[in-house]
Amino acid sequence: MLSKVQAIRGMNDLLPEQSPLWQYFEGHIQALMSRYGYQEIRTPVLEQTSLFKRSIGEVTDIVEKEMYTFDDRSGDSLTLRPEGTAAVVRAAIENGMLHNQTQRLWYTGPMFRYERPQKGRYRQFHQVGVEIFGLDGPDIDAEAILLTARLWKQLGLNEHVTLELNSLGSNEARSAYRSLLVDYFTAHEDQLDEDSRRRLTSNPLRILDSKNPAMQDLIEGAPQLLEHLDRESQDHFESLKRLLDAAGIAYVINPRLVRGLDYYNRTVFEWTTTALGSQGTVCAGGRYDGLVEQLGGKPTRAVGFAMGIERLVLLLDTLGLVPPELHHNVDVYLMAMSDHGQSQALLLGETLRDALPGLRVQVHCGGGSFKSRMKKADRSGASLALILGEDELSEHTVSVKYLRDDTDQTTLDQPSLVALLTERFPAATEH
Ligand code: ATP
Ligand code: MG
Repeated sequence: MLSKVQAIRGMNDLLPEQSPLWQYFEGHIQALMSRYGYQEIRTPVLEQTSLFKRSIGEVTDIVEKEMYTFDDRSGDSLTLRPEGTAAVVRAAIENGMLHNQTQRLWYTGPMFRYERPQKGRYRQFHQVGVEIFGLDGPDIDAEAILLTARLWKQLGLNEHVTLELNSLGSNEARSAYRSLLVDYFTAHEDQLDEDSRRRLTSNPLRILDSKNPAMQDLIEGAPQLLEHLDRESQDHFESLKRLLDAAGIAYVINPRLVRGLDYYNRTVFEWTTTALGSQGTVCAGGRYDGLVEQLGGKPTRAVGFAMGIERLVLLLDTLGLVPPELHHNVDVYLMAMSDHGQSQALLLGETLRDALPGLRVQVHCGGGSFKSRMKKADRSGASLALILGEDELSEHTVSVKYLRDDTDQTTLDQPSLVALLTERFPAATEH
């Protein structure tokens, strides 16, 4: 046999048994975004490499070691997008969407990072994100958080996630704080790991984001940015907290939350869970008021977040929050007893789909004995088998066999069948 070609490490197939859960999640997202008046934007998966270098920052994990970058046939350096914000900002500037306007946008799609694959961390993964332009108050920060909180509630996750909040202040406050931090870490240079020592000169705030357990005590003792905020950022943060309090959204202040991307300022937040081990951040975001200007647009305030779909789907699965109807994809299995009735079986299938748009009907195809047809009905996950035998065909009736309980088989005419299915699958009357 020839050798098999395998998928790229860290890039997964989404198999049929997993796709109902993804569709369930994505369905919630679409409905949620439209309920808040957010519009979808889709950008290409490939961008010029400079876009990410200029936005995410040269001295970040993403740009230093995680990007899929290559030269195309004409020698241009391109990168598979590692995140969505930079591309949405690029598109918004390029399409004149930011001039005297506000935008509430959302996107979803694959992102690519060359990381060590493990549970909840892949090389191709998927995010849903929101980007809001032209609004600078804490009210819009609060709305973005309320939207995510509503999603957790709808999915049954609200008891299992925690909102962590911090403020990074203005650029000025941050650079003053940066010197304090450099002084502190320089005084303890012998305790820094290799990464942090490198960051001491290039990007000292990122030391606070270190996941190395050996560094945690040192980080704990570092001066805190929250105590060195500028007046305006302080007010912004206080107002945001009041808005969240008023809406009944619980949060914890995490003064070490700095995020791994350079473009953030003021509000930053993460939703975390303890149920997924070390890959515990399911959603993360914040303000990036300087990014539009940094990418060549007019100064435009902005805030956004992104959530990792793989981690959320994993979380739903781990916590047993997958709705039971997602475990099977067929409600009724419709069959003729022999090939002679196949045409009527197909027709009845269409009639039922006309009458009950939400009903999941699978019509038996491919012949076989009655016994093997019944076996397939059982394996389909359907709770009812609809059977067309010789008598049913001549009398225009259908026999209903209950596959999951002891109810006796019945034979019905078509209107009574539709009535029975409507009663048994009430949601099936709606599309
Ligand atoms: P982490 O600290 O876990 O590396 P991050 O700070 O790099 O996350 P962001 O760039 O803010 O993450 O991306 C937002 C969300 O996307 C994360 O909270 C996570 O849910 C998801 N995510 C990020 N990287 C991956 C990955 N390699 N595989 C799967 N999901 C990911
Ligand atoms: Mg990361």
